[in-house]
Amino acid sequence: MFPFGSLLERGFAHGIHPPEVKERTAALPTQRMPFMDRYVLPLNQSLGAPPRPVVAVGERVHRGQLIAEPAAFFSTSLHSPITGWVRAIGNRRSPSGDFEQAIEIEADPFATQRLDPAPRPDWHRLSLDELSAEVQRAGIVGLGGAALPAHVKYSLREGVKVKYLIANGAECEPFLTNDHRVMVEQPDAVLKGIEILHTLLGVEETIIGIELNKPDAVAILRERIGRDRPIRVVPLRVKYPQGDSKMLIKSLLGIEVPKGVRSVELGIVMNNVGTLAAIADWFDHGMPYIDRRVTVSGPGVTYPANLVVPLGTPVREVLRFCGGLKADTKEVIMGGPMMGTPIASLDAPIVKISAGVLAFTAKEAARPAEYPCIRCGRCVEACPYFLNPSKLARLAKARLYDEMKGADLMECVECGSCTYSCPSGIPIVQLIRSAKSSLWHRKAKG
Ligand code: SF4
Ligand code: SF4
Repeated sequence: MFPFGSLLERGFAHGIHPPEVKERTAALPTQRMPFMDRYVLPLNQSLGAPPRPVVAVGERVHRGQLIAEPAAFFSTSLHSPITGWVRAIGNRRSPSGDFEQAIEIEADPFATQRLDPAPRPDWHRLSLDELSAEVQRAGIVGLGGAALPAHVKYSLREGVKVKYLIANGAECEPFLTNDHRVMVEQPDAVLKGIEILHTLLGVEETIIGIELNKPDAVAILRERIGRDRPIRVVPLRVKYPQGDSKMLIKSLLGIEVPKGVRSVELGIVMNNVGTLAAIADWFDHGMPYIDRRVTVSGPGVTYPANLVVPLGTPVREVLRFCGGLKADTKEVIMGGPMMGTPIASLDAPIVKISAGVLAFTAKEAARPAEYPCIRCGRCVEACPYFLNPSKLARLAKARLYDEMKGADLMECVECGSCTYSCPSGIPIVQLIRSAKSSLWHRKAKG
């Protein structure tokens, strides 16, 4: 018997059930990281064009001040997380290990670091285009993982009517608990973000989808919503990747989003709960997106925590704040264990999509020995997108990238369910990622 009466019976097909491993941080209140001496802010922190710097080396900047402006519609703003001085604009190591253009800021040790925001316009009076411009001005990206500039979703084509707003509180990645904490600690901000979008998009109904392993979040949101608002909180079975947008739409509405179709064309807009709280922070407090909620966990971390971390803080400092790494730590991952990526250097900064910093010891980080495919079909059964991962892996190994496109390579969301299921230890999703990256580089070269 489930604690919330009727549990939604619908769901999505396939998927997997990895261990959740959220118990170490799920109930820990979020702490604020102290300010550091130096911050490195890569310009490229979202999909689309990187923003253009609007500050010069030597210039004094304030916490929350715009330091890079959007270079196009598909681009977003970047603000300083700290009061201090711009010390450099140049190549710095990003979390992926590549060197990328970044703004380096030295903190003023005597500044209060208090945000001094400019008042924002009354959101009730905004048109949709004005809402989109405000969210772009705030530098908010989709915090569920894809890092799409958030404002892009609110710029609707003529004639598109939004019926459903979905607030994504599934947080299906193992270990991560920062969405959980935002729902428990800032329920009113999540609901304010919903109210703004619900009203301005002209939505008929809002549904908050939350996996059943967050009963306190379900309870507190239901209590705050009360009886009269057109918002439903729907507990969902725990299953990976429940938080994928197409899977969540299938689970909540029973609608299959066809290949190549964007959900907004079906009248559905989805936002992560953290994104919704960030929108409320902008309109209520003039707070741009400068602090990231991060879950620090994994067997290699001494004191796991949920933290609010200013963007640009080095991962090394975040780990130090959590008591440092255990001696046998082998690997540190940014993001969740299924979709995150190993960090090449602990000097890499926290960026807008850094939902997690996870440390693993040699035991968990060990890659299984790889054997030939035994055609068991488990990867096919696991793939929520009904792809043939074993075929994609075979083609990737043979570098037949064009043939992979014919096998729906670009439909793959890189959820890693196939790799997790493979008894032969074939790194299927890693092969898929490197094939996509090769195709991307080939296209970029022309
Ligand atoms: S092929 Fe892609 S979408 Fe399918 S399970 Fe593997 S990573 Fe996920
Ligand atoms: S799960 Fe692994 S062994 Fe089984 S069919 Fe897929 S690739 Fe082959």
